[in-house]
Amino acid sequence: MDLLAPDFKSTPYWWERTPRPDLGSPALPDAVDVAIVGAGYTGLAAALQIARGGRATVVLDAADAGWGCSSRNGGQISTSVKPDLATLARRHGAGAAARIIREGHNALAWIEAFVAEEGIECDFRVPGRFHAAHSPRAYERMARAIAHQPEGLEVPAHVVPRAEQHRELGTDTYFGGVVFERHASLDPGRFHQGLLERARAAGAVVVPHCPVTGIERCGAGFTVATALGAVQARDVVIATNGYTGELTPWLRRRIVPIGSYMIATEPQEPAVLDRLMPTNRVVSDSRRVVHYYRPSPDRTRILFGGRVTSGEACTRESGALLHRNLVAIFPELAATRISHSWMGFVAYTFDTLARVGRHEGIHYAMGYCGSGVSMASYLGTRVGQQVLGLAEGRTGLDGLDFPTRPLYRGTPWFLPAAVAWYRLRDRLGV
Ligand SMILES: Cc1cc2nc3c(=O)[nH]c(=O)nc-3n(C[C@H](O)[C@H](O)[C@H](O)COP(=O)(O)OP(=O)(O)OC[C@H]3O[C@@H](n4cnc5c(N)ncnc54)[C@H](O)[C@@H]3O)c2cc1C
Repeated sequence: MDLLAPDFKSTPYWWERTPRPDLGSPALPDAVDVAIVGAGYTGLAAALQIARGGRATVVLDAADAGWGCSSRNGGQISTSVKPDLATLARRHGAGAAARIIREGHNALAWIEAFVAEEGIECDFRVPGRFHAAHSPRAYERMARAIAHQPEGLEVPAHVVPRAEQHRELGTDTYFGGVVFERHASLDPGRFHQGLLERARAAGAVVVPHCPVTGIERCGAGFTVATALGAVQARDVVIATNGYTGELTPWLRRRIVPIGSYMIATEPQEPAVLDRLMPTNRVVSDSRRVVHYYRPSPDRTRILFGGRVTSGEACTRESGALLHRNLVAIFPELAATRISHSWMGFVAYTFDTLARVGRHEGIHYAMGYCGSGVSMASYLGTRVGQQVLGLAEGRTGLDGLDFPTRPLYRGTPWFLPAAVAWYRLRDRLGV
């Protein structure tokens, strides 16, 4: 069977409803208060704050606005902080650990309020997440964690034993799971478009197809060299996340770009969706090499994502492998074709914590470790407030050191071995 639908595309499903915006060729200003590199959620959320603060703001992107992860993701929104409280407390002390965890809660609450206040039409919902256990041990771990949530940092959640799993998913693959009741979803392309429109309405100039090629100190500010000419800026914000490159070698040494891959199925009969995904919840599983999936906002398709190879793959190859994983969970989809297969580079850090800060006078926010829909927008907002010198720009992540590893220059040569090791552990159910 040909897995690919006749109208198959290797571009994100979201681009059908929200094509990459045609912003024309805006003139590059000679001088601004703030230049922002990257027009995804981070860059635009920062631009919105800064432009509304009355500063002349330019956002420069090497490609179309939102071309990076911000129009490619799964639209799943969680509390976004990966390490647990005990791990963070060991590394940073108990007080800092609680502040970091709280930032994840803040980011989730913030995005719901932001979308409502700004009136952004992006199918934002709070359906909750079913986090499925890939092994009995994983289920026990999850159930224990929910029963013993740290005081003051509890989240609304309940366990779903395997016997009741069909309430959540039409599969017997898993060993039960946990529902995180406040986790949310949106259409990432629409959300990006909403941010873009608001940043531009506030006065920010967004210049697409304008790679930034150099940043040099110049008096009290910076000269930002681009393919279209130079801009003088008093402040610079780097918002390049998984696409952080040679422009900023210090950041590049601290960011591990990892491909994340997704497919969309062809439209399904409503009865199929109702059987396989009876709720609108977003879904993830407890594998280290995680699967994440959800119904499309109109409940016609399943959008399925994960990492399918040890190294990076082309989207036809990744599409076939993701399809195989999808069918392992829902065998009745064996004959279902895929209409879209795409990927993007997320940014990991060596301690799986996002960072916001300043290095040699240049602001940055990045390293969302695959969970950046709310965190990137939230930290982008905070970095914008920091540029404006506002107290509300402070975060629980301020002041953390930003680790790298000896010999690491930005090419993750260790990734294939690491992914293979995690895959083996997933198969063993540990
Ligand atoms: C397939 C996939 C699924 C995902 N699913 C989820 C999910 O369900 N939930 C979740 O929370 N997160 C998810 N993510 C992660 C999330 O999308 C990102 O964390 C978030 O979009 C990061 O936003 P950003 O603005 O920081 O970076 P990006 O949106 O990646 O933008 C960075 C931009 O920087 C530009 N750039 C880089 N270098 C330069 C330069 N020198 N000059 C000019 N411009 C430059 C790039 O062109 C790019 O547009 C997913 C990511 C992928 C790829």
